[in-house]
Amino acid sequence: MFTGQFEKLSYAFLSMNFPFIATLVLLTGLIGLVLSLFLSAWRYRARTTAQTDPNLPPNLQEEFGPRLTSQRLRWVRWAFALTVLAALGFHLYWGLFSTGPLGADADFAGLKARRDQRNRRENESTLRGWIFDRHKDTRRALAKYRYLNGEIKRDYPLGAATSHIIGFATLVRGEDGLERAVAAPPPPTEEKSWWQKLTDFSSEPPRPPVGQDLALTIDFDLQRAAAEQLQNRRGAIVMLNPQTGEILAMASSPGFDPDDVNNDPTWLKLQSDVANKPMLSRAINEYYLPGSTLKTLTAAAGIDARMDDKVYTCRGGGWTPPGSGRPIRDDDGHEHGSIGMLEAYTVSCNQYFAQLGAELERQRMGEAASRFGLRVFDTGVESLRAGFAPDFWNTENAVLSGVMSPRYSTFVAGKTVTKYDLGLESIGQGYVQLTVLQMAMIAGAAANSGGNVMKPMLEMGRQPVAMSQAMSPHAAAKMRTLMASVVQRGTAAGAFGGLIRGRINAGGKTGTSQRTVPEIDPQTGKPKTYIDRTGKTRIRMSEKLRIDSWFIGFAPVENPQIAWAVMVEEGGYGSRIAAPIAGNLLLKAQSLELLKPPQPQASPSATPRR
Ligand SMILES: [Zn+2]
Repeated sequence: MFTGQFEKLSYAFLSMNFPFIATLVLLTGLIGLVLSLFLSAWRYRARTTAQTDPNLPPNLQEEFGPRLTSQRLRWVRWAFALTVLAALGFHLYWGLFSTGPLGADADFAGLKARRDQRNRRENESTLRGWIFDRHKDTRRALAKYRYLNGEIKRDYPLGAATSHIIGFATLVRGEDGLERAVAAPPPPTEEKSWWQKLTDFSSEPPRPPVGQDLALTIDFDLQRAAAEQLQNRRGAIVMLNPQTGEILAMASSPGFDPDDVNNDPTWLKLQSDVANKPMLSRAINEYYLPGSTLKTLTAAAGIDARMDDKVYTCRGGGWTPPGSGRPIRDDDGHEHGSIGMLEAYTVSCNQYFAQLGAELERQRMGEAASRFGLRVFDTGVESLRAGFAPDFWNTENAVLSGVMSPRYSTFVAGKTVTKYDLGLESIGQGYVQLTVLQMAMIAGAAANSGGNVMKPMLEMGRQPVAMSQAMSPHAAAKMRTLMASVVQRGTAAGAFGGLIRGRINAGGKTGTSQRTVPEIDPQTGKPKTYIDRTGKTRIRMSEKLRIDSWFIGFAPVENPQIAWAVMVEEGGYGSRIAAPIAGNLLLKAQSLELLKPPQPQASPSATPRR
């Protein structure tokens, strides 16, 4: 029993760290010193009995005699003792009475709080890394620190334009997006032995580690331009390098100001805006019907199945898949008659690609979708639960991989899928659901010299990695011809072709998709609901279909350096809204020299140049 207590005590003593033990030793020493001083002061309190040198003249005997000296020494002794006593008392007061078990002192509490705030400020301002764009220019960082009016502030120079990539970092709401990836790792928690504690002379705990800086593949100016193109619209843009998978711009609109996250009323507004969903990244976390842009996948599958010389008939009454009794029609009842692949792709014929997809059948269409990076499901219901794709990015950064993980784009090709269903999927309607990022990757596969879908990359300087081979190099070359034809004389010749003609050769594909959307109550900003016959509350769907506008493409045709997907909700026909946006951004990319193939690195010269 007693030994147990002793062990506990000695353990308690040994587990104390050096500063504490040092203080203990100091205090003991001081107390000893004070006691000895008092003791000596007491013992020699009597006047000295030493005699003055009788040989001195009488007037000097008084001034220089030992009696006087010893008297002065006594005063010094008392003064010193009092000073030490005062210091000791001061120490004891702060230690015991200010915050200790014997009470709290308001002044001290205030002082401590101020000091804590300083710690908090330090936590806020020094632990996160900076986030740079592809040029690693400190003046144009995407997330940095700024010193303003005596305060250090986390600054997001592009604000809402990068909000869905950078995210936010606040004390109250935590952190999101890549701000999480540049946070400091948790401090090491390894337990020190008592000997290490005794011999560790550093009085301050080691400074917490600082988060790693992150250089992104994003181009500052292109990103800003992309966000500007989407202003006052709902939509998303992804622009990437199809040879490397580097994301050059990834914008979603509307965005949010990261500074608003800290403000309670604006935070609530951001959270409750169901109609606009400003915190949602429409580039990676929202599904869209791809419409005619998906004919790119169907055409590639057809070319690799050696069916690119097929000729189908397009009629005013539509094509009725066997066994369905329901026709698939072209827009506005168009009739293209007997038509081949190049022409069908150029004018975006629905019936051609519905028939091609149906003839390719479920298995080959499913395999093609899988090679393009889509996740293939047996039924539409299953595909609704697809979730988020892990390990989608070309990165070893688990945090980046996690916060940026996109929704799986899906294709349905199970046994229950009819020819009618497959026909619809082949023209980007029905069961298919894609993200804007995935659509950019499909355009990128056609633009890639090997027909590869490159793993998307956000971190600068990584080795490009192919996710899968979507099509043969032959099919990719053929696809580029089809897509160039769309821009030269097809559905994108006017709005897009007119903008870039004579400056850039590009290929592309327009798309328009109609979907049912909830009816939003303008008063509350929330979907309207109704009670159905069984008594359940249901969301009322709008009678008007929402027409989303798409344009995907790549440039330059001869040596593609950029591929993109532009999607604008309620944008009407793809060629009208999405195509000019892509055109403007392509001109911007050209001015930023992003369309030039990378020059081989000059070997560093042996002699320094002057
Ligand atoms: Zn047609």
